[in-house]
Amino acid sequence: MSVQQPNSFRTGPDERGHFGIYGGRFVAETLMPLILDLEKAYAQAKADPAFQKEMDGHLATYVGRPSPLYFAERLTEHCRSVKTVSGLMGAKIYFKREELNHTGAHKVNNVLGQIMLAKRMGKTRIIAETGAGMHGVATATLCAKFGLPCIVYMGEVDVERQKPNVLRMKMLGAEVRGVTSGSKTLKDAMNEALRDWVTNVADTFYCIGTVAGPHPYPAMVRDFQSIIGRETREQMLAAEGRLPDSLIACIGGGSNAMGLFHPFLDERGIEIYGVEAAGHGIASGKHAASIAGGRPGVLHGNRTYLLMDDDGQIEEAHSISAGLDYPGIGPEHAWLNDMGRVKFLSATDDEAVAAFQLVSRLEGIIPALEPAHALAKVFDIAPTKPKDHLMVVNVSGRGDKDLASVEAFLESKTK
Ligand SMILES: *Cc1c(COP(=O)(O)O)cnc(C)c1O
Repeated sequence: MSVQQPNSFRTGPDERGHFGIYGGRFVAETLMPLILDLEKAYAQAKADPAFQKEMDGHLATYVGRPSPLYFAERLTEHCRSVKTVSGLMGAKIYFKREELNHTGAHKVNNVLGQIMLAKRMGKTRIIAETGAGMHGVATATLCAKFGLPCIVYMGEVDVERQKPNVLRMKMLGAEVRGVTSGSKTLKDAMNEALRDWVTNVADTFYCIGTVAGPHPYPAMVRDFQSIIGRETREQMLAAEGRLPDSLIACIGGGSNAMGLFHPFLDERGIEIYGVEAAGHGIASGKHAASIAGGRPGVLHGNRTYLLMDDDGQIEEAHSISAGLDYPGIGPEHAWLNDMGRVKFLSATDDEAVAAFQLVSRLEGIIPALEPAHALAKVFDIAPTKPKDHLMVVNVSGRGDKDLASVEAFLESKTK
């Protein structure tokens, strides 16, 4: 496929929310006025230095930013010592340490922005959907901080699977509503949240957890997460006197990846990799890789790559990492894939767990299972690069939440 490359990869979306043929806003007519309201309010907030200044303050004192850029020395040495390269090759690997944020992952960057916007719009009730519970916890956290009631929709299956996060949300004062429709997982929770929004249009703000949903959500969430890439630029310039040569991040809906990638998209020499969850393997059909194993369709208000059967029904995503099992991907990623700007790879459950264990022992950092998928590909890519190649991996969250899943996975392998 030959594609016409745009002058800039950073100007999208267009005024109707399209990234090429992806994105847009496929919503019920009753929601349109709200979406337009939100779009206007966000544009005003974005241009208001007072809003930005307040956000910077909370990012510094509440979230704990900037998150460090860390030279992963033992991992670098490990990748340089593999037989095929025997010390002659191997990139210099840095971690962007989003796992050190308050609540233990990158999601808080986005939720802070959206809850501040909700307050500015005079909204008095916050709703959110959650799969693994991480976005629910981040939303419940900021609703507590700003004194707003919070309702989190969560599939019943996930309520059972993610008990600790349900307890966390309740402790933070949120109401968790179990969703019993469909497959009782994330996509059903998202449908239920959209339904709530339609019925409570006047006072309710819908806080979406990734770069998906109807326009302006994908662009807005990206903007809030872009603090990751902006800091990385400055920190790499300070550490090495130049920009990195490659970036790599895991993809659920794609918000941590978009946040790292976006400020670098127009430096075309920089290689950019997104890593989807291949679960039991793409060929098995049990995966969460929308680009590798899906095709374009419409879900949750936007057109993008989705996991669908031949009748166009959404298929259940599978991954050992609950945070990656969304059956779609943000529309901007879909476009960047078709443009050839971002290369999409995938890592299986086995590869992710191996990386989870090895990185814990090499660096004393237990990564979440989500970024363990990106780290798994670092073991493949880093040894093929020269020693002066600077590589940044987004460590999007910490792995304490995943210890039980990893133990169960390893035990099932020895049986
Ligand atoms: C939720 C989550 C992800 C996946 O979401 P994206 O929108 O793709 O970033 C990745 N890592 C962690 C730690 C998460 O909690």
